[in-house]
Formats: sequence, C-alpha cells, structure tokens
Amino acid sequence: MDKIYIRNLEFIGYHGVFEEEKKLGQKFLISLELDTELREAGIEDNIEKTIHYGYVAKTIEKVFFSKKYDLIESLGEDIAREVLKNYKYIEKIKLEIKKPWAPVGIILEDVSIVIERKWNTVYLSLGSNMGNKKENLEKAIFNISQLADTYVTKKSEIIETEPFGYKEQDVFLNACIEIKTLLYPKELLYKLLEIEKNMGRERKIKWGPRIIDLDIIFYNKEIIEEEDLIVPHPYMEYRDFVLKPLEEIKPYFVHPLLNKRISTLRKELENNETKI
Ligand code: ADP
Ligand code: MG
Repeated sequence: MDKIYIRNLEFIGYHGVFEEEKKLGQKFLISLELDTELREAGIEDNIEKTIHYGYVAKTIEKVFFSKKYDLIESLGEDIAREVLKNYKYIEKIKLEIKKPWAPVGIILEDVSIVIERKWNTVYLSLGSNMGNKKENLEKAIFNISQLADTYVTKKSEIIETEPFGYKEQDVFLNACIEIKTLLYPKELLYKLLEIEKNMGRERKIKWGPRIIDLDIIFYNKEIIEEEDLIVPHPYMEYRDFVLKPLEEIKPYFVHPLLNKRISTLRKELENNETKI
C-alpha cells in the first residue's frame, strides 16, 4: 500500500485534563500516515485520484478547534473518523498526537499517543420468520445503514428458506449484506443486538422463531473467538441460507479458516448431507 505522510502539523490548543492546560494552552504536534493507492494518480498526473493533503490538514484543524478535549485519545478518535469519512481514497490512518509541553513536572521531549483506524468490510446475514418478514429485513437493513460510521455497500436478493434446527415454525426470509464500518467487532455486535431488541426480538427457543436475526459472518479476514462473538460465523458453511445470498454478493471471498471461496463452500454443501 502506498502512503502519504503529513508530519508535525503544529497547533496551540487548550486540551487536557488539568485546569491550567485548558487556560494557558500548549503546543500540539499532529502527524499522519495515510494508506492509499497512488498508482492511478501518478500515471494520470491527476489530483482527483489522490488525496489533497492541504484539505486533510484543514479538516484536522477544524476538529482540533471544535472543542476543548480532556484527552488527546478523544481528539485522535475524532480526527481519524473525520479524515476517514471525508476522503474516500484513505483506507487506513495512523495518527500521532504529541504534547511537547505536557505538564508533568519533569523535563521530557514529548508525550504522545498513536492510533490506527481503518475501514472494515463486514458481511452480515439477516433472517426473519415472524410477522411481515420482508418488511423486517428491510427495516433491519435501514437501521444498519443508520448506524454511526457505517455504510451498507451491497445487498443480496431476499430468499425464502426452510427452517433449520427447530422445524415447527414458519419458513424464513434471508439475505446478506456487505457493510463498511469503523465500528470494532464487539461494538458492531452490540449495535446489532440492540437493533434486534428494538425490533421486538425475544430469545425463547434456540434456533426458534424470530422477528429478526442479525449475524456477523465475516469481519475483514479476522478470526475472533470471544465468549460472545465467534467470527467467521461457526455454522456458515453448513447453511445454504447464508451461502446462497453471500455467493450472490461476494462469490470469490476466501474463508480465512477454511481457505475456500464462498462458491466452493456452496458447491460442497450441495453435495453433502451435514446441513444445520
Ligand atoms: P443464532 O443466531 O445462532 O440463532 P442468536 O441470534 O440468539 O443465535 O445469538 C445468540 C448470541 O450469539 C448473541 O448474543 C451473540 O453474543 C452470539 N454470537 C456469537 N458469534 C456471533 C456472530 N458471529 N454473530 C452474531 N452473534 C454471535
Ligand atoms: Mg443471531
């Protein structure tokens, strides 16, 4: 990945937890490393295909003076988010904020934080088998599109499928979507659970009827094994109602653990009896 650097943008600001920092002000130095693709801009000599670093510096200035932050951590989050949301060619940002005059009572060169933030590509599976199922799926997709720092970038067709596990229930409608988000995996999970809850989901029977079910299938290529979050979704390769809509939007995505494409997993499932 190519990079653009902006080093040591200098501002006098009033951020800090101490009263004196908010009153007297101090120097801040902000540096950025931006991951982007510079090939096309370079070949075409075209500013439209790259990032105008002058504008990026102005964006940082705007956030910097928008309020008095207690923490440079918080200032960093806001700068990273604004830059990623305003400049579509930036995939990842590494940001350093230095306080060379940090009032710690001992001589020091500077105090700094470094954070890295990026756009994440996530695949979600949606299902509903209660009430107006189509409307439930559409409402859930709309609610996801309204989440902070999240965009819905692809949607599959809605498909009808037979229930699995607990069979004494109505047929399902299912779909998959691709989103781009700045939310971390757990943050996204909690937002999805909140959407499920707000839409009236109750958890009674395992794999039983539900107004809406929102599952994280892939989060980039990450492998997550937390108590309440397993990614890639552990049953996805056994479920045609996940694989079919996913194949429609991302047939060549390679499962990071199984090391196979979605289209291959689906073919294998067709020839296999282990469906759950
Ligand atoms: P299921 O989707 O298997 O029918 P639920 O929707 O009732 O089950 O989810 C129960 C729990 O599964 C959630 O509270 C969540 O913590 C956990 N979970 C683990 N991995 C995932 C994942 N990849 N996506 C969504 N939920 C997950
Ligand atoms: Mg679920």
